[in-house]
Amino acid sequence: MTALTPDYDAIVIGAGVCGLYQMHRLAQMGVRATVLEAADDLGGTWRQNRYPGARFDSESVSYGYSFSKELLAEWNWSERFAGRAETERYLHHVAVKFDLEKHIQFNNRVDAATWDETNRMWRVSLADGRSLTTRFLMTAIGMLSTPTLPRYKGVDSFKGLSFHTYHAPRQPVDYAGKRVAVIGAGATGVQVISELADKVGDLTVFQRRPNWCAPLHNAPITPEEMEAFKASYDSIFAACRASGGGFIHEADHRRTMEVPEPERLAFWEQLYATPGFAKWVGNFGDVSFDPVANAEYSKFIAGKIRQRVKDPAIAEKLIPTDHGFGTRRVPLETRYYEAYNRNNVHLIDLNKTPIVEITPAGLRTSDHDYAFDIIIYATGFDAITGAFDKIAFTGVDGLTLREKWADVPATAYGVMTHGFPNLITLAGPQSASVASNFPRAIEDIVDWWSDFLAHMQAKGLTRVEARAETEAAWLAHLKGITDSLLLSTAKSWFTGYNGNLDREYKNRYLIYVGGGPRYREHLGREVETGYSGFELG
Ligand code: NAP
Repeated sequence: MTALTPDYDAIVIGAGVCGLYQMHRLAQMGVRATVLEAADDLGGTWRQNRYPGARFDSESVSYGYSFSKELLAEWNWSERFAGRAETERYLHHVAVKFDLEKHIQFNNRVDAATWDETNRMWRVSLADGRSLTTRFLMTAIGMLSTPTLPRYKGVDSFKGLSFHTYHAPRQPVDYAGKRVAVIGAGATGVQVISELADKVGDLTVFQRRPNWCAPLHNAPITPEEMEAFKASYDSIFAACRASGGGFIHEADHRRTMEVPEPERLAFWEQLYATPGFAKWVGNFGDVSFDPVANAEYSKFIAGKIRQRVKDPAIAEKLIPTDHGFGTRRVPLETRYYEAYNRNNVHLIDLNKTPIVEITPAGLRTSDHDYAFDIIIYATGFDAITGAFDKIAFTGVDGLTLREKWADVPATAYGVMTHGFPNLITLAGPQSASVASNFPRAIEDIVDWWSDFLAHMQAKGLTRVEARAETEAAWLAHLKGITDSLLLSTAKSWFTGYNGNLDREYKNRYLIYVGGGPRYREHLGREVETGYSGFELG
C-alpha cells in the first residue's frame, strides 16, 4: 500500500523532440502529466543551437514525426535538409496542433530527484526551490545538451564576443568584416565554417583532429516535390524502419573487395553524389567492420578531399589519419572543403602549434599571437550521460545515478536502469536513439513505454524496475556488437571521449549500434513475455 498520492502520475523532463511526443502520448492516455523544461521555450536542441549553419543532416521528410497522418499532410518542408529555424517552427506547430504547451512548465530546471520507496514515487526538486512528486519520472533531456568548453587558460579574459555553439546568441550576430576564430571541426564546426567562410572578414580554424566529411547536397523542395513526398510517406517510413539507423538509406550487403574495382568506384561516385548519409550508411556494410574495406573507402574519400582543396598541404591537414571513414560521426557539409580555397580562411593545426591560452585580444598558440573579434567554440559535448550527471538522481538505498554510471552505464535497453524504479530514460545511454535518426528511434521508445504504462495502469501496478540480469545481458550484447565494429577503436563522443573533462578515456559503451530492427525485436520480446526483464509491483 502506498501512503501518499503523488502530484502527477508522470513528469517528463525536457520539451524537445522526445519530450513533446511523450507528453502527447500521455495526454492521449489521460495520464496526469506535466513537462518540466529548463528553458523559456520548447524545441530542445533546435531551440538551443543557434550557431550559423545549423541544419539537419537527416532528410527533412524522414525527420518529422510519423505518428499523425494529418500532421504529415499539412506540414511542408522547404529544404531537403531543413535549417534550425524551420525545425523550431515545426516543433511549435506540433505543440500548437496537439495543444501541448498547456502541459509544459517553462523555466523549471530540475536539480535533483529522489526515489521514495515507501510512497513509490519520485520527489523532484526544482532550481526555484519547489518540490513536486510523481509516480513515473521520464527523462527527455537530450544527448548533446551539456556543452564543454576547452580548459585553456584565460577563456574568460577575451574582450570580444565568444560563445560555445550551443549557447550561440539568440540575436543575429553581425559577422561582416569580422576576424573570427572557430575552435573545433566536428559536425558543428564544419557547419559553422562552411556557413561563415564568405560572410566574415577573416576566418581562422583551429583544428586538432580532422573528420571525414562528405557533401550534404541540400536543395529546396518544390511544392510539387513536397506533394510527391506526402504521397510516399508510408514508403519513406517503411524504409527508415528497415534500415539500421532509421534513415532512408540502406546498406549494400556485398563485400567491398569482392566487387570489381570499376564497379566499386562507380558505386562510390554515385554515393558521393547522393544527398545525405548515403555515403555512410548506404555503403557496403563491411566498411564499418573490415579494416581493408574501410581503408579502401577512406582512400576514395581522401581522393575527393585532395580534388576539392587546391593547396595540397592544406588538403593533407584535412585528411584524418587517426581513424577510418565512418568510425566517428560523419559531418555532412556544403562547400566545406572549398572554404579552404579562399584567401580569407586559414587552417591552424593544433597538433603542431597548440593553443597556449585565450587572451583579451584573441588567442596565443605556441608560435603566434592572434587577434579576433569573435571566438566560436565548436568543442562538443559531455555526450549522453552529461545531462544525467547534472541532475542528482538518487535511487533505491541512496544509490546515485552518477555513481552507478561513473564507469560504464548499465541499462536495460537504454530505457531504464536497475536500482532506479519508475525512472524512464527515454533517450538514455545504450538506447537505439543515440546512433540513429533521432525521431524514428524515439517514436518507437515512447510508444513502447506508453504501452507499458497502459499495461501497468490496467493491472493496477505502480512500480517497475529493470532487473539486474536484464541490464547485464544488454551490456554484454551491446559490447559484443560494438567491439566487432571499427567505431569502437575511434576516440569520439560515440565511445565516451571528451578531452575537456577530467576523465580518463576508455570506451564507455554509450550507444547501441545493433540497428533499429534488432532493437525493436528486443523491446518486442519484452512485450511478448509480459515484460519479464522487469520486476513489476
Ligand atoms: P564533436 O563532434 O565532439 O566535435 C568537437 C570538436 O571540437 C572536435 O573537432 C574536437 O577535436 C574539438 N575540440 C574539443 N575540445 C577541443 C580543445 N580543447 N581544443 C581544440 N579542439 C577541441 O562535437 P560537435 O561538432 O558539436 O558535434 C557533436 C554531435 O552533434 C555530432 O556528432 C552530431 O551528432 C550532432 N550534430 C548534429 C548536426 C546535424 O544533425 N546536422 C549538426 C551538428 C552536430 P578532437 O576531435 O581532436 O577531439
